[in-house]
Amino acid sequence: MNKGRHREAEVGPRMLRGEHGWWFLGPGGIARLKNEHLTATRALRPAAERHLSEQGLLSTRGYQNYSLTVLTSTNCNLGCAYCFQNVDQDAAGGSRPPRIAYSRLTSDTITSVLDFTGRRMAESGMDRLVLMLFGGEPLLNPQGCRELLARAADYGLLRASMTSNGTLLTPPLARQLADLGLRDVQVTFDGDRPEHDRIRVRRSGGGTFDAIVANMAQVTAVTPIRCDIRVNVSHHNFEGIDALVERLADGLDPARCSLHFARVGDVGIGYGNQLKFSTELAGRFTRWQRRAVDLGFTVPRPRAHRPCQACSFKDGKYGAVVNADGTLFSCWETAGKPGWQVGTVRDGYLPAGQTEGRWITCEESYQYADEITVLAEFHDTVDAALLDYLSSTGRLRA
Ligand code: SF4
Repeated sequence: MNKGRHREAEVGPRMLRGEHGWWFLGPGGIARLKNEHLTATRALRPAAERHLSEQGLLSTRGYQNYSLTVLTSTNCNLGCAYCFQNVDQDAAGGSRPPRIAYSRLTSDTITSVLDFTGRRMAESGMDRLVLMLFGGEPLLNPQGCRELLARAADYGLLRASMTSNGTLLTPPLARQLADLGLRDVQVTFDGDRPEHDRIRVRRSGGGTFDAIVANMAQVTAVTPIRCDIRVNVSHHNFEGIDALVERLADGLDPARCSLHFARVGDVGIGYGNQLKFSTELAGRFTRWQRRAVDLGFTVPRPRAHRPCQACSFKDGKYGAVVNADGTLFSCWETAGKPGWQVGTVRDGYLPAGQTEGRWITCEESYQYADEITVLAEFHDTVDAALLDYLSSTGRLRA
């Protein structure tokens, strides 16, 4: 971790070089631009700016909904070696790395979390709540998930999602959660089955690929819950990603799933990734994305820079991340880690002087050996290629 590197929230459009000119990604949407619309330094010429403004693409809408992330359990039934909640590698070389301290969401803490949330929403003039159930593995505390969802309804619950490893989400439990408003579950794959089963292992031993696919196939078939798939890409697994995309399409209903790829980074516990952000890797990301689109998965559309509601504003005005014991953290990647607390739901945020150096954003947690400009160029290349493809296949109107 790199304490004390807080950057102020940046809201801003992006300009990506596409096959036929430029892609403008503004707060209000996407537009295609020609070379003559830009100056030599990629600034908009006045006529282009006026046009985008008239189309509403430059307008920034303020945050409408309060974003609340709650850890329902800090425990996990898996032992992924790169987990940012590990405090070290498993010294015995097994699948039981030591984790952050155990904590489990109770009824009393839910009361405090929602009281705090109601106060913060009132102060910010918001009446809608977007809730994320988080862990550890949130479903190690199914009652905490159910109760929090049920009681959040009184706070204008608009949307609820969960980040889960997917191994415990059976259809009966999914039906209960869906009835309480859960609509999206994010699960992660660590490569095709052989690599995934070496990396995403149960603490008791054994792989998880088939269990996750089977659960998510059933859940998306019998509930309105959609499956958001994140594929972690590293030097351990990138050769198998083409096969993974095909296997996921065979085992799941692509129409009920989104799919995105992310190079996994190092959060400072000795799990490095030798895969560099390179032109060759960008080409692979592009190939995987295009195949996923062709197979019927939703591949998230590239967007303008949009700061995270929870961690990008030091006063927690638009959102909060709460550990299962009611402690506040600036972002979900520091949640539960000693020394990173920024307050409690009972007493509110600590004074700014006391949180200096602890208020980091999720983007800052990963240590990439690469320069930030290399990272930005990589994302721009991959995103432009996706927009080119969506446009050329009639899936994007800009
Ligand atoms: S499933 Fe998630 S919370 Fe559990 S060990 Fe793996 S990365 Fe960590």
